[in-house]
Amino acid sequence: MSLKRISVIGAGVAGCAAAISAAARGADVLLYEQRPLRSTPVHTTGIPAELCGGGDFGAEETDRAGGLLNAELRELVPSLSSCIDAARMGEHTLLVAREAFSQAVRDLVEASPRIELREEHVAALPDGPVVIASGPATWSPLARAIHAASGAPFVFSYCGRPPLIAADSVDLSEALFVPPYPGAEPTIFLPLSDDEVAGLARLIASGARDHPAGLEPQMVLADEQVPVERLAADADELASTILRGPRGPQVQTEGPALCLVPDDPEQSAFHLQGLCTSLTTAAQQSALAAVAALSEVRVLRPGLIHRTPWLAGREATLSSLELERLSRVLLAGTLTGAWGYLEAMATGAVAGVGAASLADGRSPLPPPPDSMTGALCYAIARREPQGDSRMLRANFGMLPERPQDEGMSKTERRRGQIERALNAMREYAGR
Ligand SMILES: Cc1cc2nc3c(=O)[nH]c(=O)nc-3n(C[C@H](O)[C@H](O)[C@H](O)COP(=O)(O)OP(=O)(O)OC[C@H]3O[C@@H](n4cnc5c(N)ncnc54)[C@H](O)[C@@H]3O)c2cc1C
Repeated sequence: MSLKRISVIGAGVAGCAAAISAAARGADVLLYEQRPLRSTPVHTTGIPAELCGGGDFGAEETDRAGGLLNAELRELVPSLSSCIDAARMGEHTLLVAREAFSQAVRDLVEASPRIELREEHVAALPDGPVVIASGPATWSPLARAIHAASGAPFVFSYCGRPPLIAADSVDLSEALFVPPYPGAEPTIFLPLSDDEVAGLARLIASGARDHPAGLEPQMVLADEQVPVERLAADADELASTILRGPRGPQVQTEGPALCLVPDDPEQSAFHLQGLCTSLTTAAQQSALAAVAALSEVRVLRPGLIHRTPWLAGREATLSSLELERLSRVLLAGTLTGAWGYLEAMATGAVAGVGAASLADGRSPLPPPPDSMTGALCYAIARREPQGDSRMLRANFGMLPERPQDEGMSKTERRRGQIERALNAMREYAGR
């Protein structure tokens, strides 16, 4: 075994980021992935870095938290950022074609002479530096091994996704194509009559459910999503929230509508935006068929609500993402309690840098707190086990403010934060 070898458990978004960033820093990487040998409730393919929700990576502008995280990723692991670029579906959006993104990451992993992708379900922690990036579908016995190594309790949150439907099963003859702003790619809406909203609400409210155990009343999804069945008891509320149609000067008539988000540039499939649900696949199919344009609908991948485990930070990890009790082990992805593809890649990249340092006989360096990536890792390490169980997303509130900035306008302060974040990340990446 190479002295500089590290192991990464899980070739999801975070694990691939960890493997690629560690390999770029001279480590040999054994990247373990159980799929396709053993599937999970949230994945449908055997491809590394499968996006188990939609393909939205958020905004590109650095004055948005996700945009800044993305710009920092470009400094830290440029080759990974190019996978996002290769798969994006328009100039004005970071909406990516999911399959093209995963294939680009897989190609990158397979092309690296330093990464060995091994199809194996890992049940115990390997020797040497390890990044655990087993994601929302981390089950026993790996979960037991993580608990034994960290001594920290697991916290559970709920993550949802809407159904993905075949485009050739949708009648688009009445659809509205509305650009969110001039020059942008149009968003597609299927207008709904009041009867259709009422029928949809009734079927959602009464449909059979496939719940994760014991979650119903307190169920709050990551990223402020709401399970659609929670709203379906009141058709008006459903219409004014999730089914809120297009608005603005370019829209002739406002009213409820289903928003269709393309899954690929050919628009062969659509995500039904906002319809996160734990209805069974059959119940989803029949509820959707209550809409005339969806009477022939084919659900390609059902909507889902998934109970996602993560480790409470303060008792588990340092800001370098090492386990406090076992520093050769680092966490990445949803296991850290952070939600989102960019958050998974950022934590994966940091853990990969740390594991490469360990393999080189050095201690991992925490990412700079002035960067969005660093601020996220510090927030992860500070979380109380008994606190709020919502998962973390990168946000500007995490970044430190300087006393000398007092009195500046919000725009000036933010501009300064962005500049410091990017400079700090450049320096960290350069080291
Ligand atoms: C249902 C759902 C929908 C989501 N939708 C979105 C969304 O639309 N946008 C967004 O930004 N975020 C979304 N998220 C949030 C989440 O941050 C992303 O899913 C992100 O991809 C998680 O990355 P990860 O690498 O931690 O996990 P994953 O991408 O799931 O990767 C973990 C990998 O580890 C493998 N693995 C697990 N256990 C083992 C083992 N014992 N041995 C070997 N391999 C193993 C798994 O097979 C998997 O490939 C969603 C989460 C869920 C659960």
